[in-house]
This record gives sequence, structure tokens and C-alpha cells, in this order.
Amino acid sequence: MPGAVRTEAIVLRSIRYGEADRVLHLYTPARGRVGAIAKGVRRARSRFGGRLEPFFRVALILYEGRGELLTVTSAETVSAHPRLREHHGSLDAAARACDAVARLFDSGDPNPAAYHLLANQLGLLDAAPARAGRANQLAFRLKLLLAAGLGPQLEACVSCGDREHLSGFSGAGGGVVCSACEASAFGLDAEAHHFLVAALAEPLIRAPTAPERALAQAERAIRETLEHHAHVRLRPAAVA
Ligand SMILES: [Zn+2]
Repeated sequence: MPGAVRTEAIVLRSIRYGEADRVLHLYTPARGRVGAIAKGVRRARSRFGGRLEPFFRVALILYEGRGELLTVTSAETVSAHPRLREHHGSLDAAARACDAVARLFDSGDPNPAAYHLLANQLGLLDAAPARAGRANQLAFRLKLLLAAGLGPQLEACVSCGDREHLSGFSGAGGGVVCSACEASAFGLDAEAHHFLVAALAEPLIRAPTAPERALAQAERAIRETLEHHAHVRLRPAAVA
């Protein structure tokens, strides 16, 4: 059923194709991952201008034919995020955020929460590029876990339900464990536990920070949860 599709989208990747075209990896609120082709976009007088570069948030009209790729017929800028491109740290964080969404949400299943989270993260990196750093990226990833239905249990031991003596994290169990159940877990300091709780509770703009040692443990908790439950491996969060 060929036809026009109107959607907002964030450009995750943009790959040169042929003489003047680009193949775009898009993330959309209602269709999840979408592949599209923008014809003639690399010509100097292209009607798309520079609007189909990575990290642009755009309002698109796509033509859906029988092929796998949709064709971009119209593109308006919702947000270009120009400031995040001026700093290495925020540019790198934006690339890692798009990469994380691409890997964790690689199907056409819609996940509006993941879309809005990515839009928020890019908006934050544009408004406050100095916020880019490991703590910001881990807070973003934790919220992605939640959007994917993989939010870790942090209130009680995943093995026995004890609410005290929480001193480890089990990726396989999907949350914290107590000292009696620690066998298959790694040690999680109170500071790391507090970071995980606060990062999930607070909006991205107020995400907490923590010492490197605690952030390293938090990153390991996220990594092992993803590897175990989603079979996804992300690039390390940058140490800014
Ligand atoms: Zn226990």
C-alpha cells in the first residue's frame, strides 16, 4: 500500500550513496527504526539543504513504495542542534546516544519513550554542551533501559528480597543483590547504587554525578544488564 507517511524523526546516521544521494537511518516515534533514501541531497542546490545530517530532528514526508527504503519527499527542521556540534565532548556524546538507540531499538517496533528520550538528550547536549560526560551518558542509558523494559531493580535484593545490606549488582538477575546472595554478582558501592537510583528518578537535566569509581560500577551494571537481557553491546561511555 504505497503512500505518503508524515513523521517526525531524528537522523541517526547518514551514509553517502551513489553520486548525490544519502541513505538515512532514522528513528521515529511511531515506527521505530526507519531506513530512507534522500535523492540528490548532496547536490549544491538540493531542496533539503543540510537538514538531513546526523542529530537533526526533522519533520518529514516520506514516500513508501514497495522497496525496503522509504523516499524522503519533504524535510523541515524541528531542531538542528547547532551548538552541540561545536564541542568535541557533546558531539561525541550525541553520536554515542544515537548509536545506543540504534543498537537497542533496532526493529520497526515503535517506542515513543525512547524517541522522546533521545530528543531530550540531544536538546540537553545542545543547550548545555558542558554537561556531556560519563555521568550524563550513563543516566541516558539507564533511562533507555527503562524504555526498553529492562529497568534494573534497585530497592531490594533480586535474589531474596532483602532491603538491606545491598552490596552487589547482578546483570543476570537484573538488579541489586545483598551480601548473602552476592556469589554471581560484582560489588556495587553505596555511591554507585545511589547514582543508579537518582539517575532513574531525576530528569536528564538534573541527572546526578558521582566519583569515577562509582560511575565505572554503574556502567558495568548497565553493560551486564544489556548483554544478559538484550544481547546488545554498547560502545563504552566516554570518560570526559
Ligand atoms: Zn539476597
